[in-house]
Formats: sequence, C-alpha cells, structure tokens
Amino acid sequence: MGFLTGDIESLLDSQKIRSMFRDFGIQTYSLERPSPRLENILTKSIAGETISREEALFLGEVNDEEIPFLVFAASKIRERGKGKTVTFSKNVFVPLTRLCRDRCGYCTFRIEPGEGELLIPPDEVLEMARGGARLGCTELLFVTGDKPEKIYEVYRNALRELGYKTTAEYLVDMCEAGLKENIFPHTNMGVASRDELAALKESNASMGLMLETVSMRLLRKGEAHYRSPDKVPKLRLKTMEDAGELRIAWTSGILVGIGETWEERVDSLFAIKKLWDDYGHIQEIIIQNFSPKPGIPMEKHPAPTLVEMLKTVAVSRLIFGEKMNIQIPPNLNSRTFPLFVIAGANDLGGVSPLTIDYVNPEAPWPQVQRMERALGELGFILRERLPVYPEFIGNEFLSNKVLERVQNVIDNSGYVAT
Ligand code: SF4
Repeated sequence: MGFLTGDIESLLDSQKIRSMFRDFGIQTYSLERPSPRLENILTKSIAGETISREEALFLGEVNDEEIPFLVFAASKIRERGKGKTVTFSKNVFVPLTRLCRDRCGYCTFRIEPGEGELLIPPDEVLEMARGGARLGCTELLFVTGDKPEKIYEVYRNALRELGYKTTAEYLVDMCEAGLKENIFPHTNMGVASRDELAALKESNASMGLMLETVSMRLLRKGEAHYRSPDKVPKLRLKTMEDAGELRIAWTSGILVGIGETWEERVDSLFAIKKLWDDYGHIQEIIIQNFSPKPGIPMEKHPAPTLVEMLKTVAVSRLIFGEKMNIQIPPNLNSRTFPLFVIAGANDLGGVSPLTIDYVNPEAPWPQVQRMERALGELGFILRERLPVYPEFIGNEFLSNKVLERVQNVIDNSGYVAT
C-alpha cells in the first residue's frame, strides 16, 4: 500500500465521510493508488512544499476516480495549518447602491435607476448597523456596484443632495458611522483608487475585491465580462497592490465556471498568490461557484460540477499551502459545504441573521446551528471570527480606532469572545 493510499484509508475511517462521498457519487474505493506523477505531487505537498503552475495545470487533468487522493492531500494540509477549526462571521449586508457601470453576464445585484432605490440613505444604514449589532453581528458588509456616478446623472444628483461626489466618499462616511455603532465595516466597492483605499482603511477592519479571473478573453463580446470595464484584470490587481502597500487586510478570490479555462483559473490563483507573496496582506481567498439564475444573460450557462469545484478548492489549498484561509460560500453549497471543508476550505464566510445575500438572493443562508452540527459530525469546530482574521489583528493592518474596538470583542485566540 502506498503512502497516500494508507493516508486516505485513515481519513476514510470515518463512516460519515465515506457515505458523504458516496452520496454525491464520488467513488472512494476504485483505485489502489494514484498515478506516479499525481502521487509525487501530493506527497510533496503533504510534506509542506507548495506546487508549481505546471503541477497545478496537470492536476486539472486528474480523473474523477483520483479526486479523493487530491482532496485528502488538501485535507491534510488544511489540518496542519488550521487544525479542526472552521470559521465564519456574522454580518449585516448593506448594498449601499446597486447601480453599476458594468454589465457582468452573471450579475443579479445590479439594477437600473427606476428598478429600486438609487442608494440606501444614511438613516437606513445606521438602522441596519444598529440592528446588526443588537443581534450580535460583528461585520457591516458594504457592497456597491462599480462607480455608477460615472454613467448616471440621477445618481450623481442623489449623491450631491447628501453632500458627496462619489460612491467612495459616501462609503467613507457610512463606514465611520457604522464603526461608532460597534460593528466592523468590511467594504467591497470594486476597483478603487489608492486615496479611496487609504480613507476607507481608517474605519474598515478589512476590505475585499474578488479578482474573479485574469482572463482578458472573457471581456470579449458574448463572454461574462463584456461591457464591464472594471473587470480588466490589471485594474483589479492594481487595487489589490495598492491595498498591500497600504497594509489593508484583504479578501480576494476567484469565480469558478464563468467560461474560464482550467489554465486561466490556475493563473488567477497564482496572480493572487503573487500579491500575497509580495505584500502578505491577503487574508483569505474565496472560491465562489457561478450559479445560474433566471433572467441573467448567463441563465443557460452551466454551473460548475461538484467534482470541478472540489478539484478547484483542493488545488487552491495545494497552491497556497497551510496558512491561507480558503472560503467556500455555504449558501451556494448548502448541502455540500462539509465536503469542501474536507477538500481544504477552512472558512464559510459571512452569515447574516438579518439580511439576505443580495448577490445571490435565491440562496438562503444556512443557519449557524445547522453548519455547526454538520461540521461537528465530521469532527470540526465552528468558530466565529471578525471580518479581520486573527493573524492580521494589530497596528500594522488596523487603524487605532478599529484596533481598540477589536480588542474589546476578541478572546486570546483572536476569534470573537463567547
Ligand atoms: S461589477 Fe459587480 S455589480 Fe457590477 S455588474 Fe459586475 S457583478 Fe454586477
């Protein structure tokens, strides 16, 4: 019996894990051992080396029967870095404006003027922040479309009435106001300038921008990012570089299944890895599956399969190694999220007791207790974290006023004190 085969046997000792794989049609018995090249890559990864681009490309060719080997190697690596802890945060989702100058083919967030309110006014934002804090939420998640003021006069007027010229200026004030309610802002505003990021750092515990993909091909007519000028990869990478220089704890990630090839997906992961290697500010990466919804241009585009997603999560763990936090959105994978934890993920992102996920409104959040139970059956412990991970809590990544408040709510481990 090879090293990996023995390893897998011990992981499969749990009947629960065996039956989960069986339930989802993944065969765990058919192969005695992986192909020599696969075994070589996985053995090396388990020993603590990260993999090269070429090796990640090769892993895209792994057949379904070999998936358990890949998944279990990722599981080993996750366990070395994260033990049996899986995290989540309790948030309130504030879609400050759903207008956007882009036209992504998979989007359900974006609205046109007349289809809803142009922006959420300050008193409502405060109400949401207070309501969230009352329910024990620690994350005030601000999401906006990308620079709608560039194309909508009616929105410019609405901002002007409040005393602002740009969405970013409005965000800065709303984040400051939110922080005073003892809930921690985390802003996703799309591509941002260095000055905007610096102003937001003062009140944000962390910020985020999904890289989504490095594919320029997807900007062409008929593809997911056609007519979406803010999805030019180098603009997104530049925002993340600026965030690195400004020492902002940053969340990024990829979108899986929007028409990208395996090679483009791997290159996207390595682009984020390079930012992490250069600046050390990437606190987590989200592996988000595209989900078709009625009414969007990509309504008929297929969602990635479970095997495709498992492979992507596991390869991400092999690329990033044991330290990175890898998040899988549980509302988009409500039955399968425990499998992704086995495959290397260690975070379930934001869960809201108050608001829906406006980006995926069809997918309700699984209750915390249900997540806790499902993970507990596999031996994992669910812990609540802040929007900033413990390893980024300190003067380097947080302004004094954010740090002061953070220290009031965490325990010795850096997670939310119970
Ligand atoms: S940038 Fe975001 S909000 Fe705008 S269309 Fe794309 S996905 Fe939707």
